[in-house]
Amino acid sequence: MANAEVLQLNRFSRMDDTISAENRIIAWPRMGRIDIPLKALLLSLGAKIVIPPANSNKALELGVKNSIEGICLPYKLNLANYIMALENGANTLMMFQAPGSCRLGNYTKMAQKTLKSMGYKFDMVVFDMYKSKMKQTLQAFWHVTRCINPWRYYKGFSLGFNKFFAIDEAEKLLFYTRPREIHKGEAEKYYNKWLKIIDETNSVWGAKQLCRKIRKDFKKIAIDKNRSVPVVYLLGEFFVLLDPYVNQNIEKKLGDMGVEVRRQIMFSEWLEHVLKPSLFYRKESHRERCVRYAKKYMKRAIGGEAIETIGDTVYAARHGVDGVIHIMPFSCMPEIVSQNILSKVSKEENIPVLSLVLDEQTGEAGYITRIEAFIDLVKRRKSKLKKKKEI
Ligand code: SF4
Repeated sequence: MANAEVLQLNRFSRMDDTISAENRIIAWPRMGRIDIPLKALLLSLGAKIVIPPANSNKALELGVKNSIEGICLPYKLNLANYIMALENGANTLMMFQAPGSCRLGNYTKMAQKTLKSMGYKFDMVVFDMYKSKMKQTLQAFWHVTRCINPWRYYKGFSLGFNKFFAIDEAEKLLFYTRPREIHKGEAEKYYNKWLKIIDETNSVWGAKQLCRKIRKDFKKIAIDKNRSVPVVYLLGEFFVLLDPYVNQNIEKKLGDMGVEVRRQIMFSEWLEHVLKPSLFYRKESHRERCVRYAKKYMKRAIGGEAIETIGDTVYAARHGVDGVIHIMPFSCMPEIVSQNILSKVSKEENIPVLSLVLDEQTGEAGYITRIEAFIDLVKRRKSKLKKKKEI
């Protein structure tokens, strides 16, 4: 196996080629269900993979033990994922990063140094999502798999993208249905059933049909359309938004409290935005919309999802959304800035906002109490506004 080496997409020459394509065993950090589409993509290209276990207390303990105290929570879990994957035979670690004035840019170097000091030998491949459009991404996958079969690329990317879209579709339907369902737990059952089907789908045709079939199937769930359901935007830092272990399954908690969650970062939309050449965009992207709406409060992006947090909150206030829940890891620089600006946005735009900071010390009881109190306020405010309209 080769010594640790970092590959930046535009500098392939730095990649360690002493690991032959047949011997490469690829792993990547866990975050929500990105394992399903990535697995389909890499297996189609003929790669061998190791999927680290989903994030858990055990992973967190491992990450905390091997990280410096002040580093953000996503890093600690990513590091634990790498350790678990290396222990299970992985020798090529994939990492996604985006530029910005936050610590994400240092993740790879720090993780590489730590893993090396622990005695692991591996190759690290970094996908810089904002620098790398489709062409560079294809090149990177070629470097990792040495696959030269165009059909396999077509199949892999079609399966991957369609599975990303299908998971997001199922999640959106779950968020809408859960607070309205007549039989408690039914939407969740449908969602889990579809996750399994999405994972098992192995034909391009089948993957392309997934969204339509999911929409049709969810219509079978009996719902109460007249129920008063407040709509809450869920926004904040990327990793905590997308990983249910880290955010303590906040979407389910809110749904069970009778709230429709609209998470502002959906993986497929984000991926499409960063990979698709801007030429193919006919409509304004989510990020562009955020920059436009945030203008009054934040002049430029400062890293992480700070500008999205502000832009989405202003958008929510101006489009009849009942409240905003902002989640962030402890010590996350961009989100600390947003958190401070959010109190001004909340006052001036007249929208209730709750900021929740998450780290390894976050206890469930206090977390739920704060959410319940906030939802209580949102519900009372909604019914007051409704009464006012009726007068
Ligand atoms: S956005 Fe925040 S949590 Fe994420 S890497 Fe940057 S500083 Fe860490």
